[in-house]
Amino acid sequence: MKKIAFYGKGGIGKSTTASNVSAAFSGMGRRVCQIGCDPKNDSTRLLLGHICRSTVLDLERQRKGGEIALEEIVHTGFHGIHCIEAGGPEPGVGCAGRGIIVALEKVRALQALDNTDVVLYDVLGDVVCGGFAVPIREGYAEEIYIVSSGELMSLYAANNIAKGIRKFAARGRVKLGGIIGNSRNVEFEEELLRDFAVRIGTQLIAFVPRSKVVHDAEIHRQTVLEFAPETPQAEVYRNLAAAIDQNTDLQIPTPMEFEDLEAMVEHYGN
Ligand code: ADP
Ligand code: MG
Repeated sequence: MKKIAFYGKGGIGKSTTASNVSAAFSGMGRRVCQIGCDPKNDSTRLLLGHICRSTVLDLERQRKGGEIALEEIVHTGFHGIHCIEAGGPEPGVGCAGRGIIVALEKVRALQALDNTDVVLYDVLGDVVCGGFAVPIREGYAEEIYIVSSGELMSLYAANNIAKGIRKFAARGRVKLGGIIGNSRNVEFEEELLRDFAVRIGTQLIAFVPRSKVVHDAEIHRQTVLEFAPETPQAEVYRNLAAAIDQNTDLQIPTPMEFEDLEAMVEHYGN
C-alpha cells in the first residue's frame, strides 16, 4: 500500500489537490482511501458531493465507547473512493490534534485500510501541535508532500513541516516526496518554489496553476476530474498523481533558517 500525506498551511489548497489526486489514482485503477485530518471536516466534500455526515469523532462521542461499525466511518464517494473524516472536537472545547490520534487509532482497529492500494492523509499543517504530527510520527504515512504557494507565510509553514519530517525521519520510515506548488499568481512563483524545494533538499513535483475551473467544480461539489475531465487543469492533476506514483526521490529534508527564507522570497520580489 502506498501511504501518502499532504500537509500545508490552512486554506492553501490541500483538500482540493488531494481530492483531485485521489480521483486521478482511482482513474488509474487503484483502490483509494482519503482520510481528512482537519477539524474542518471538508477534506472529502468534493469526492462525496456533500460534507461528510458522520466523522469518526462524531461517532465516538455519540456511542461513548460503544461499538462503531466499519461502514459507519467509511463513506463511498466518486468512482468508489473510500472517504473518512477524522472530525474534530466541539468548537471551543478539546484539542483538535488529540482528535486525530483517536480517529486514526479507530481506523487502524477497524482495519479500514484493508484492500486499499493508496491511502492519502489530508492534514492541516500545524505540526507545532503534536496531534497533527501523528500521521508522520506513528508511521501512518511514509511519503509526505507539502502543498505551498509562493507566499511567505505558506513557505514558512512548509519549512516548519519540513522540520517536523526531519525530526521523525530519524527514527521512522517517513520521507519528504516533494513540494506541490499551488499557485496564488505571485511573481516568479514557479521559480521561487523550485528554488525553495532544492534548498530544503527536495523537488518541486508539480506546479498547479490557479484556475477558475477549480472554483466552478467546487461550486458543483465536484473535483475537476469529475466536473471537467478534458481540461488542462484535470491533466495537471493526472500528471501529479502519475509523478507521485513513480516518485523515487524521497528525502530527509534540510529546512531553512527563517532569515534565509525571508531573503529568498525578497529576492524574487514578493
Ligand atoms: P485547504 O484544504 O488547504 O484548507 P482547500 O483545498 O479547501 O484548502 O482550498 C481553499 C480554497 O482554494 C478553495 O475554495 C479551493 O477551491 C481554492 N483553490 C485551491 N486550489 C486552487 C487552484 N489551483 N485554483 C483555484 N482555486 C483553488
Ligand atoms: Mg482542507
